[in-house]
Amino acid sequence: MDYDVEKYRSDYPILCRTVYGKPLVYLDNTASTQTPRMVVDTVTDMYYKHKANVHRGVHALSQEATAMMEATRRRVRDFIGAESEREIIFTRGTTEAINLVAASYGELLSEGDEVILTVMEHHANIVPWQLLRDRKGIVIKVVPMLPDGSLDMDAFRGLLSPRTRVVSVAHVSNVLGTVNPVAEIISLAHEAGAVVLVDGAQAIAHKEVDVRRLDADFYCFSSHKMYGPTGVGVLYGRESLLEKMPPYQGGGEMIAHVAFEHTTYAELPFKFEAGTPDYVGIAALHTAVDYLTGIGVEPISAHEHDLLRYTTERMMEIPRMRIFGTSPDKCAIISFLIGDAHHYDTGMLLDKLGFAVRTGHHCAQPLMQALGVEGVVRASMALYNTRSECEAFVKALHRVASMLG
Ligand code: PMP
Repeated sequence: MDYDVEKYRSDYPILCRTVYGKPLVYLDNTASTQTPRMVVDTVTDMYYKHKANVHRGVHALSQEATAMMEATRRRVRDFIGAESEREIIFTRGTTEAINLVAASYGELLSEGDEVILTVMEHHANIVPWQLLRDRKGIVIKVVPMLPDGSLDMDAFRGLLSPRTRVVSVAHVSNVLGTVNPVAEIISLAHEAGAVVLVDGAQAIAHKEVDVRRLDADFYCFSSHKMYGPTGVGVLYGRESLLEKMPPYQGGGEMIAHVAFEHTTYAELPFKFEAGTPDYVGIAALHTAVDYLTGIGVEPISAHEHDLLRYTTERMMEIPRMRIFGTSPDKCAIISFLIGDAHHYDTGMLLDKLGFAVRTGHHCAQPLMQALGVEGVVRASMALYNTRSECEAFVKALHRVASMLG
């Protein structure tokens, strides 16, 4: 495999730093990936040369900034295989994208309509639907999982009913790493007359995504998890659905004409983009997409799978190691506990040895409850992690395990 991980690593100045005098091994990629130099360069370039508010300006700078923002929209359209840039809405992130759909598409639902979620959803894909339940009296149903952390598809089929209006599901679980069979879920949901939102936060940088091939109705993700800047996200929505949906927020940019008596709204996608967007971040997202596709999502995925396989096998040799999520189709996310040791103690000791992992409930408290734990330690890999980092990680885990008795 001609995957030049050392070359890619040199794109990330942060990977050269130390913590507590030890080389940093960054394994918190599920929370946020690091940002390559070229993406930061776009941010700097934008501030130094092109900064002006978008869409409203007649002057050159504003036109340049607008052109950069709209170029990103087309780039994202092509990246995820959407039909039209009218279907690409910029948000602050996955969370805002899901809130948008729950609030706006939710307006089209009535009391007793059903929304199906899964037990492994992030709070971002639970709470917006609960807010809708409080407002509209919808019913939330939850798909359970099998012992290996894959979805119980028989249970899913059983939950579909003539009242199912929305199925909202993670493409990849941020805790278990499970890759959910979203194409099958979408096809079953469509047969039942429901629309499907796919939370792609953990998939977009690790799997090829084609919203048309999936036949997804909504697909969303965050830039900071795909080597892009913070503060930006994307909601893809099928144009025919977005057309029917009322605006999510009101303000500048999203209107056609405003009078105190009556206001009309802008065309798609601007109807859903009230206020000044993070046009600097959006411009830099373009660079992140170019970067990701330049290396190739498939080679990245193969590299990460190699690290996942190696690290999982070596971790299993550690006495009392408990790994949560062993589904055959999973991304490079390893959640674990060492015996009954508290996740926080394990994470803290690893931190002191230079390993950045995340501990806690990972914004998935219902999943923690289903697993019967309060929290877990999570290590997750990205395109720049190496086999020797994983070797060092396993060695550190042996040490931590013996320290924790
Ligand atoms: N869904 C999933 C599966 C996630 O992993 C995350 C981030 N941890 C989110 C939603 C929320 O993303 P953001 O905080 O960028 O809005």
